[in-house]
Amino acid sequence: MRLHRLTSIIILGWSVTLFADDKNDTAPILCQGHYHTEAEAIEQLARMAATYSNLGEWKDRAARVRKQILVGAKLDPLPKRTQLNAIVHKKREYDGYSVESATFEARPGFYVYGSLYRPLGKPGPHPAVLCPHGHARGPGGGRLRPDQQYRCATLARMGAVVFSYDMIGLGESLHHGWDHDHKQALTLQTWSSIRAIDFVQSLDDVDGERIGVTGCSGGGTQTFLLTAVDDRVTVSVPVVMVSAHFFGGCHCESGMPIHKTADLETNNAEIAALAAPRPLMLISVGGDWTKNTPVVEYPYIRNVYSLSGHQSHVENVHYPGREHGYQYLKRQAMYPFMVKHLGLDSKGVFDAETELYDETKTTIETPEQMYVFDESKPYPASALKPGASVPF
Ligand SMILES: [Zn+2]
Repeated sequence: MRLHRLTSIIILGWSVTLFADDKNDTAPILCQGHYHTEAEAIEQLARMAATYSNLGEWKDRAARVRKQILVGAKLDPLPKRTQLNAIVHKKREYDGYSVESATFEARPGFYVYGSLYRPLGKPGPHPAVLCPHGHARGPGGGRLRPDQQYRCATLARMGAVVFSYDMIGLGESLHHGWDHDHKQALTLQTWSSIRAIDFVQSLDDVDGERIGVTGCSGGGTQTFLLTAVDDRVTVSVPVVMVSAHFFGGCHCESGMPIHKTADLETNNAEIAALAAPRPLMLISVGGDWTKNTPVVEYPYIRNVYSLSGHQSHVENVHYPGREHGYQYLKRQAMYPFMVKHLGLDSKGVFDAETELYDETKTTIETPEQMYVFDESKPYPASALKPGASVPF
């Protein structure tokens, strides 16, 4: 509890200052970047774990954390779901999969730019996997990067419909003039992810009951935030981002008061635990803020899963000698988890001898091939101007 000065009065010659309970203080408390030390993070996890000792108490706490995220992100109550007005076109066929350029309006005039990967030659309906990306800036960044394409194509070749979509101001969003430095970035990206589930569930060939999501770094943040606030996610794989001592360095991750209020403190390890009891894999490395995952974040989250007897649903794959990113080895760790929990068909992709998933059938596309809007489909006149405040 914090106190603030209400007024000063004079009583019998003494100056007395009155303080009021600060419950109504709406000043935001931001936990950004390295808001606290590794040791303080461990102490915070212990404080949080002491607030529940059974499944019912955890569910109560989880509901409060979820509510705090939505309130902090200015998504409470959830906005009205407006027409998606989806466009899916420019189909390209490759070895075992196809790619189409796809977009929808998360809010009227605010477009989410993506690529829709679909399996070829496999019977549907198919599970869907959302693939947000990290802060890969500059031309050719965002969803346009090769490492993102390998991941999406390989999942599609195993039977998933994959939607890979740009952050605000990266990839095609940058191409159309948007900047990532937008004050609504956290709100817009979280809402865009929720609407991305609506979009894939609207597709005839998708089984809307099987929805996976995986992303790395800033895309990892999008992964665990979406999983925390939307129960339609059934499998979640946040990569190199779930940390109890690091809250994300970008305003799209920690620029709004989702972690701490006068009433409740949390961190990204606990937010990731809101996935319980749904399957969750944490992929971590020694070279960034996920270096303690096997001994700090994973045990905390596993304890949450154990309250419902689902500890087998959470896994951690840790690479002590590796650096930040969603490189080949980390994708190799993610694939079998998605295969197992989404019921994908790895035949022709998984090699039992090498125990590796073959990514070599991926055709790397150019940005121009991937853009939604070009001379074949001009940029809509009704689109919001780059940098505009998006009405909710
Ligand atoms: Zn960001």
